[in-house]
Amino acid sequence: MFIDRSGKKWWKGNLHLHTTVSDGRKDPEEAYRIYREAGYDFIARTDHWQYGTEQIADGILILSGCEYDSGRIASSGIYHILSIAASEEPELTHGAGPQEIIDAIRRADGYAVLAHPAWSLNTCEQMMALTGYDATEIFNSVSGFPHNCRPDSSLLVDQVASRGRFPGLVADDDVHFYTESEVCRSYIFVQAEECTREAILASLRAKRYFATQGPRLFVKKEDDRIVVECDPVRQIVFYSDQAFIWDRTRSGEALTGAVHRIHANETFVRVEVCDAEGRRGFSQIIPVR
Ligand SMILES: [Zn+2]
Ligand SMILES: [Zn+2]
Repeated sequence: MFIDRSGKKWWKGNLHLHTTVSDGRKDPEEAYRIYREAGYDFIARTDHWQYGTEQIADGILILSGCEYDSGRIASSGIYHILSIAASEEPELTHGAGPQEIIDAIRRADGYAVLAHPAWSLNTCEQMMALTGYDATEIFNSVSGFPHNCRPDSSLLVDQVASRGRFPGLVADDDVHFYTESEVCRSYIFVQAEECTREAILASLRAKRYFATQGPRLFVKKEDDRIVVECDPVRQIVFYSDQAFIWDRTRSGEALTGAVHRIHANETFVRVEVCDAEGRRGFSQIIPVR
């Protein structure tokens, strides 16, 4: 947790984790210890089709969680969907379709996250056909090198946003403890008064959070401008649905902020930063119309 300059608290969390309860390589207690010692305040255990209940484990909040999947063939759709912080187990059985999964998670008062759409080879059309999911992963650590491929779903995020759909954006590890490269790499910071299920869930739904691998970023819309403040970074990029903008990027040794003037045809803007170590930070999608 850190407190920003205006006194607000931001809690660090990972929403995607597998243990020996499914196909992860560490048991839940060991997994929680690793994340607690790395300074995390909350986590969700999302073992495949194994609903994990909420608990407090040595000072770290474990939100209820589960990962459900549907489909095996990319052309007809492969969907992995996380249930986060539901108040009861979603009523689901194997064979449920993606919309059924989302609806069941929401009926159980959970936060539904479409996991790793790029890894799943989801298309924009497949994502647009789904309704009611709360967020999507813009980055998923275990999908990256050396274990796997396509960790970055930002192109799909922008395609969906260009069609007017603005889900929350999370980054998480999807940790299985295969290699160090997926442990404590990608996470979210949630702004909330306290680290409880109710407070975290309310802030997730209100998109009072950002996703990052290191650099923190604070983004707001002020009249016709998007204003970014951040930890020192080498690059700041303003993504939107306008294909060409001459002043979209900033670069420097230690940038701590930038201002983007909203262009006439933009309907959304989102911000990415990248620090000297190559670690990225991702804002939410900001509607500008
Ligand atoms: Zn998955
Ligand atoms: Zn997973």
